Amino acid sequence: MDRLAIVVPCYNEEAVMEITSPALQKVLTDLIEKGKIAPDSFVLFVDDGSKDRTWELIEQEFKKSPLVKGLKLAGNVGHQFALTAGLITAKDVSDVTISIDADLQDDVRVIEEMIDKFHAGNDIVYGVRNARKTDSFFKRTTAQGFYKLMAAMGVKTVYNHADFRLMSKRALEQFSKYTETNLFLRGMMPLIGYKTDSVYYDRKERVAGESKYPLKKMIALAFEGISSFSTKPISMIMTVGILILFLCVIAAIYALVSYITGSVVQGWTSLILSIWFLGGLQLLAIGLVGEYIGKIYMEVKHRPRYNIETFLNQRDENHEDH
Ligand code: UDP
Ligand code: MG
Repeated sequence: MDRLAIVVPCYNEEAVMEITSPALQKVLTDLIEKGKIAPDSFVLFVDDGSKDRTWELIEQEFKKSPLVKGLKLAGNVGHQFALTAGLITAKDVSDVTISIDADLQDDVRVIEEMIDKFHAGNDIVYGVRNARKTDSFFKRTTAQGFYKLMAAMGVKTVYNHADFRLMSKRALEQFSKYTETNLFLRGMMPLIGYKTDSVYYDRKERVAGESKYPLKKMIALAFEGISSFSTKPISMIMTVGILILFLCVIAAIYALVSYITGSVVQGWTSLILSIWFLGGLQLLAIGLVGEYIGKIYMEVKHRPRYNIETFLNQRDENHEDH
């Protein structure tokens, strides 16, 4: 029987812990009863350097229930790294993992279906959102625009899939060989290349607390995704450059013809506009190339991506008094 680990990254999630922990434990006990997963399956809460009582609550849950484990990171490293820390830690003590956000926006009822698809021979099962009715209009359109932009940039992602997914031990072993510092998990999973499938669900409202992904972080994630997987923006600079050069030739011909025919071309405005336009464009281009160089810089340093402070794995025998 396969030992399941449900990995949950948590950053300042004290408001949802009391709801999430029992809900996920219930999922586990149901699946254990049905004989679909091993009795020693567990939920692994990863505390991503929270500033509130999240870790205390995780410790409490760990003491209360044999179904809960906890991992404390030494500082806040962000969702993608926290999740990676959890997955790579879970890999060694489980046969299959499912990652899910702490706010339970993703439907836990499809976890059973994920397990079934895993047993049917899939190494990765993606949770895909049917609709985004509960997200605000703004979140919905920006998120969908993001997937479209990614596709246009040639990054393979699963449409409307966030980080709710099942991964087999084998897939995780492969994943752990991707040691890049510029992480965008959603873009990496399709690269692993094992047999995959999807399950569909409706995304719900956060059970409590507020989003830890404000617009600024969303834009950062989108840019991270594109620049970590595609060098298209750089080649686009080339195209724009050639286009402008072409426009310049036309303008030169126009000026020459006006000169010959005697109608003098006037205009300080058009001159200054074109200078500023080209200057701006050049700075933008240099900036973009600089972003990539910055990424290379971060990668070559090969710094550890996260630092584990505590791993609540085996329960202290003295506590097992029930
Ligand atoms: N999260 C994290 N570290 C961070 C920010 C977020 O581990 O620095 C976790 C957070 O606790 C949650 C998940 O990432 O479990 C997704 O965050 P959130 O629900 O706020 O994002 P949204 O669903 O609004 O995009
Ligand atoms: Mg959320």
